[in-house]
Amino acid sequence: MDYATYLKKYPSADGRFGKYGGAYLPPQLVPAMEEITQAYLTICHSSQFINELRRIRREFQGRPTPVYHCETLSRKLGNCQIYLKREDLNHTGAHKLNHCMGEGLLAKFMGKKRIIAETGAGQHGVALATAAAFFGLDCTIYMGAVDIAKQAPNVARMKVLGTKVVSVEKGAKTLKEAVDAAFEDYMENYKDTIYCIGSAVGPHPFPMIVRDFQFVVGEEARAQFKEMTGFLPDVITACVGGGSNSIGFFLPFINDPVEIVGVEPLGRGDKLGDHAASMSYGSEGVMHGFDSIMLKDADGEPAPVYSIASGLDYPSVGPEHAFLRELGRVNYDVASDREAVDAFFKLSRYEGIIPALESSHALAYAMRRAKEMGQGSILVNLSGRGDKDLDYVIEHYGYGDDFKDF
Ligand SMILES: *Cc1c(COP(=O)(O)O)cnc(C)c1O
Repeated sequence: MDYATYLKKYPSADGRFGKYGGAYLPPQLVPAMEEITQAYLTICHSSQFINELRRIRREFQGRPTPVYHCETLSRKLGNCQIYLKREDLNHTGAHKLNHCMGEGLLAKFMGKKRIIAETGAGQHGVALATAAAFFGLDCTIYMGAVDIAKQAPNVARMKVLGTKVVSVEKGAKTLKEAVDAAFEDYMENYKDTIYCIGSAVGPHPFPMIVRDFQFVVGEEARAQFKEMTGFLPDVITACVGGGSNSIGFFLPFINDPVEIVGVEPLGRGDKLGDHAASMSYGSEGVMHGFDSIMLKDADGEPAPVYSIASGLDYPSVGPEHAFLRELGRVNYDVASDREAVDAFFKLSRYEGIIPALESSHALAYAMRRAKEMGQGSILVNLSGRGDKDLDYVIEHYGYGDDFKDF
């Protein structure tokens, strides 16, 4: 099925990717979601919206981001060539701004005055605060008190950008409670407020909207790689948390003879609670308003998850990923904390690029595959830069002297 036909068909009008997706909502939120869906489906076709988004991407975000050939790293691994799509060079240092600017522009076109969300490690909060400042929208970010204490630099960024950060003091005071608080706010205020999700997850229409705003990554990368080499890559890969950078990167290649692999975090090992590899170890279920593959505890509730990369520690995955695996079009594999840290140091030392720990998972997989393949090419979506991870990595692994050898 070609790219355009696929996009017309999925999701269906009720937000399904095959049996996955949908919208499992409290009745009060049904009209709010319906309003966003209808507005988005109209606005996304207007030339005014499309042209404004293009201008923002070019002039504010610095797009297109380049594709880079890792010649030294590739030589060290053998003869297979590794390339990176440099989302670390997108403004604010990661791919998240692609959907946050889209969501901000949508809010503006819908006449909303305020955007809200929750954040865990603060990456989504910073990207959304950036969009709010750009569009002159009020912004409130809910964040667990425990996370606020851990993520001081991101809290500071949001505040400098003019966003109100609300400390959530209930329960474990982390992401789950922050999600509940953000939804409570949304139920009360949806007339002038729009809720902006941080990944390709949640009830319909969010997985569709976020995916659409992230296509720019794969579309640029496909054209750039072809222009550089005359070919398409043999393998493309990206890390999968909720699944936004990966879905936007993958879909433009869906009709190409290209192997597509999503990489999940294996953390400390394959025991429940030690990883966040939902696709690899989970099963079908409904949580956070959508049907997908998820990690459950003994009671069927979302299981505790862990990864060295806080952007990947989510107990489910966007519904389109579950569907693409069922179709047999995308495969999912894992990389451990240790492999990710190894990739983090190798890219830093051999190429002068410090990657985000999230992105390091995709890179670790690419390095493993490059050795096995011994020829051909792999294109990795480098979803973000690693400045945010430096303190943690240095504290736990030093400066990388143990990781030099191949
Ligand atoms: C948040 C984040 C991710 C994970 O989110 P997805 O929705 O799966 O893309 C990956 N990389 C970086 C740099 C992030 O900040």
